[in-house]
Amino acid sequence: MTKRHFAVVDPATGEPFAEAPDQHPDELDAIVERSRRAWLGWRADPGARTAALLAAAAAVEAAEAELAPLLTREQGKPLAESRAEVARTAARLRYFAELAPGPAPQPVEDGRPVRSELRWRPLGPVAAIVPWNFPLQLASSKLAPALAAGNTVVLKPSPFTPLATLRLASALAEALPPDVFTVVTGREPLGARMAAHPGFRHVTFTGSIPTGRAVAAGAAASLARVTLELGGNDAAVLLDDVEVPAVAERLFWAAFRNCGQVCMAVKRVYVPDRLHGEVVDALAGLAKAVEVGPGLDPASRLGPVNNAPQLARVEEVTARALADGARAAAGGHRLDRPGYFFAPTVLTEVPPDSPVVAREQFGPVLPVLPYRDLEQALAAANGTGYGLGGSVWGSDPDRAQAVAERLECGTAWVNHHAELSLAQPFAGVKESGLGVAGGPWGLLGNLQPFVLHRPERP
Ligand code: NAD
Repeated sequence: MTKRHFAVVDPATGEPFAEAPDQHPDELDAIVERSRRAWLGWRADPGARTAALLAAAAAVEAAEAELAPLLTREQGKPLAESRAEVARTAARLRYFAELAPGPAPQPVEDGRPVRSELRWRPLGPVAAIVPWNFPLQLASSKLAPALAAGNTVVLKPSPFTPLATLRLASALAEALPPDVFTVVTGREPLGARMAAHPGFRHVTFTGSIPTGRAVAAGAAASLARVTLELGGNDAAVLLDDVEVPAVAERLFWAAFRNCGQVCMAVKRVYVPDRLHGEVVDALAGLAKAVEVGPGLDPASRLGPVNNAPQLARVEEVTARALADGARAAAGGHRLDRPGYFFAPTVLTEVPPDSPVVAREQFGPVLPVLPYRDLEQALAAANGTGYGLGGSVWGSDPDRAQAVAERLECGTAWVNHHAELSLAQPFAGVKESGLGVAGGPWGLLGNLQPFVLHRPERP
């Protein structure tokens, strides 16, 4: 029925290489209705759900040889990282299959002669909207808990990365009943119409803060539950006892993995005055040495930025910092080759109010800022509207932990960053998010309490 298509660009060349259906928002009514009908069967049989989700995990693994290169082609990341993303997608399906159907019925007692029981029920069709940095991993973080809880899912990938998600849907179709999981692809206002569609009972969104606000406003129309996983501007605070050679490489990859296009990447580094030069030199040395190239080339450790508008944003914040007096200890410019390649960039002497520090850069550019006393560094780390993650680095882990406990964010790490387990909750504070994903909390986010209450005697 869909006649229109849009082009998908390979960021390693800057050239279109495939097309995806450009679905019209008016198609949503029929899609959501099919999802609602499928829900009636899917919610009824928790045992069948677990079996289907385990089969879905196996189907993803079986499709790895197709999924991983397709993901690299449209997203840009090195093939090894795409393979890891596919593996994590399967692992998440398996994790939630085993957690399903959720908490057992539970008596609620307050001493009165009543029988009151708490049960957890699925919500209905769920709308999931995800960005382009981890298309499969983020899709699975939405669909695995929602399906395990007994909901059905309609998922929209970013128009920059629709292909691996469409291939994921065809793999999952081998394991799931029809219409339990549907992928829709298209340009805006498809996402906006999804957020506001009255047939959804939960809208779960990962993406930028401005779009998150629009999604919440859209979902207000139906008062659907809203879960938002939004942008971050994570600070790494180095303490004065840190051993720079021991941590430099870990810190570098925490900032530059996936070309810095990670919600929880290290996006600014605070370093004691005395160590500032050493840290800048170590990070700049790594940035200059790292192999940048197409993700399908096995030698590449960093690929291109995903898309032209994002590359333009990265160029703009970098140029602005340099114009404000910053110095590029490494990089600072696009690479002179086809595709959306930007040289891994380490900035020093950056004014603290420069956008590359104050806002999320979401690219391979890292400002390193000196501090005189730790209170000043903590005030700066906590002094933004973001609150996703943060980390503290030092030789004494207890001291580092005491400082990490003072970070205003959802997850704080000691001596590493952005390590996540499937079993832990994932939630941003302040403008970085609303609601909780991950682990048993992710399942609860897709269930609603139902209480049955009756007197002990008739
Ligand atoms: P984005 O907000 O531009 O787009 C995200 C998704 O929303 C895409 O599918 C897009 O097509 C869709 N969309 C666009 N306009 C919409 C609208 N009006 N209504 C509904 N949907 C709409 O984000 P992006 O540029 O694709 O991704 C980068 C951002 O995502 C960064 O800010 C990053 O930090 C964030 N992110 C957050 C997490 C997290 O878990 N907290 C994880 C990954 C990425």
